[in-house]
Amino acid sequence: MNWRGRPLISHQVVIETISAVTTRTGRRQLAEFLSVGNRGEGTRFAADPWLETQSDEGVIVVPDLFDPYDKGDWYRVRRNILAAAALLAAEANRVAPSFVKDQGTIGIEVLPGSRQGQVASGVHPATTFLALVGEQHLPAELAEDIRNFRTRSPSAKVNLTLSELPDFTARPGTEPGPQHPEIMVSPTLTYLERAWDDTKYGRPSARPMIDCVIPTTKDPAIAPEDAHIMNCFVQYVPYQPADGPWDDASRDALANSVIDTITQFAPNFRNAVTHRQVLTPYDLEQRFGLLGGNIFHGEISPDQLFSLRPSPLAAAYRIPLAGLYLCASGTHPGGGVMGIPGLNASRVIIRDSRHRTLGNRAASAR
Ligand SMILES: Cc1cc2nc3c(=O)[nH]c(=O)nc-3n(C[C@H](O)[C@H](O)[C@H](O)COP(=O)(O)OP(=O)(O)OC[C@H]3O[C@@H](n4cnc5c(N)ncnc54)[C@H](O)[C@@H]3O)c2cc1C
Repeated sequence: MNWRGRPLISHQVVIETISAVTTRTGRRQLAEFLSVGNRGEGTRFAADPWLETQSDEGVIVVPDLFDPYDKGDWYRVRRNILAAAALLAAEANRVAPSFVKDQGTIGIEVLPGSRQGQVASGVHPATTFLALVGEQHLPAELAEDIRNFRTRSPSAKVNLTLSELPDFTARPGTEPGPQHPEIMVSPTLTYLERAWDDTKYGRPSARPMIDCVIPTTKDPAIAPEDAHIMNCFVQYVPYQPADGPWDDASRDALANSVIDTITQFAPNFRNAVTHRQVLTPYDLEQRFGLLGGNIFHGEISPDQLFSLRPSPLAAAYRIPLAGLYLCASGTHPGGGVMGIPGLNASRVIIRDSRHRTLGNRAASAR
């Protein structure tokens, strides 16, 4: 439903509803912006009016020449992220909570019998609602929204270890240089178009778009001396290939296409690879609970953001079940190593706790 109580039955209705509202600051522009997320099958990248350049030139883009940890689209952790994760895990294990629910209320048992009133769920909204809480405890409309929440993703991870750094034709040298921390292979719009075409029909891109990071150029301690780690974020890769489930052969073929593609730009690359690990979207789901392989717990598209993430009935971190909150990427503003959903959720939880405390005091004073 929208703010006027009209059902938002399709993306088109959302656009038209927003578009119909006129303000001095131009609501129509916002509606047009939102329509960008509605990329239908067969839409061409090259025809996208939102791209600033339609140029087909260029070979390799190195977006963050000097320090990819501090700039760019992604958030990076300068030191060993595993140490930070281990600290958090130790704290979580210390309380060893278990999830309990009865008659529409949710709680968490920190120690057997000690029911706590508030639970903040840091997992995918579909896992929280459909697997952990259970559809029978949800309003039907919320359950339907969560089932329809789009959470597929065509990105995979190919992690490599290298005996030496790539020696790029465009900028030679195997000593760490400005070309090494982060490399993006997305040469032309036509290249991206072709890469996407493959995946539309259920095949991994023969020549994929690759966003590579070599973290050992910033933190050599995470690998043995003279060895490097290279993490390749690869698009586009189907969750379920058209010719059958992922197996060792198809994972190996994906790694080969990544290695061959990079070798076109750095001839020493193929021989420098000493180990490989392939995580397809399916593997990301199995290993990390990232449903559909979506690393952001659901597509980041305008109609799945703001008060629509993950559903208008579970926006702003609260849900219709008292005591249960959402605090992860399935809420606004979505994924990335930034912690904003958690920060926002904690504020809502604190505010609700204060209201409850004041309410209890008022009740006992009566
Ligand atoms: C390969 C990869 C590379 C990435 N690179 C970057 C990057 O460079 N920069 C960046 O900003 N973002 C990056 N991201 C995205 C970023 O990691 C996520 O957006 C971020 O971790 C989301 O944090 P979160 O706490 O919301 O969820 P998550 O980090 O997904 O945490 C959810 C936790 O819940 C656990 N879980 C799942 N199901 C259950 C269950 N049923 N019961 C109990 N526990 C469960 C999971 O194991 C996981 O520990 C990357 C993601 C991936 C997968």
